[in-house]
Amino acid sequence: MIEVSEWKHERERMVKEQIVARGIEDTRVIQAMNKVPRHLFVENTYYHQAYNDYPLPIGQNQTISQPYMVASMTELLELKGNEKVLEIGTGSGYQTAILALLCSKVYSVERISELTRKARLTLKQLGFSNINLIVRDGTLGWSEFAPYNGIIVTAGAPEIPNALIEQLANNGRMVIPVGNEASQTLNFVEKHKGRIYRKEFFGCAFVPLVGKGGWK
Ligand code: SAH
Repeated sequence: MIEVSEWKHERERMVKEQIVARGIEDTRVIQAMNKVPRHLFVENTYYHQAYNDYPLPIGQNQTISQPYMVASMTELLELKGNEKVLEIGTGSGYQTAILALLCSKVYSVERISELTRKARLTLKQLGFSNINLIVRDGTLGWSEFAPYNGIIVTAGAPEIPNALIEQLANNGRMVIPVGNEASQTLNFVEKHKGRIYRKEFFGCAFVPLVGKGGWK
């Protein structure tokens, strides 16, 4: 990724006050959050708010997630560098960029083509070459490149879509918000010897996951 010096001070403050102060410890995650220029993933009228502690609109009724949410979900995947990761809900592409700095290849699925178009431009400008984007229903996963060592869903699901459980590699980890359309609980799933282990983490509020294995 190319280095961007604009808003560097605000970015460092965001990491210090919102990420490190709240207990994120994975130094690779912290480094990635310090590097990726979040402002480039929102419209320029939002640049001055891009490093604040909340989600922002990205058009099409969708949002870029709160920085802390991005950091904590990413930390749960425990990426070391050589994983293949599937993301459902590309949105702005910000979470995609963070993942791309931490693993070997990111496959990201989005259902709204206009968002994919913009995300593709931003990620290309930043010089990423290990990201694949596609427009389709992410509740069906992306079977062509499965299995994935990590799966991250950045929209709220009524239940964990079966296709995603199937496409998770052995010893793989998945994070996904599960609940109703207004609020969810972050679910953490691990697969060991073909068996699924599931834990519930903190409460969260994501836009709905819309599709065959999500909300209709
Ligand atoms: N990670 C994104 C968050 C975007 S919001 C970011 O940081 O910008 C969640 C996204 O999930 C929205 O863009 C929405 O269109 C998308 N989405 C909802 N249902 C989906 C589905 N079934 N497949 C793919 N994307 C979906």
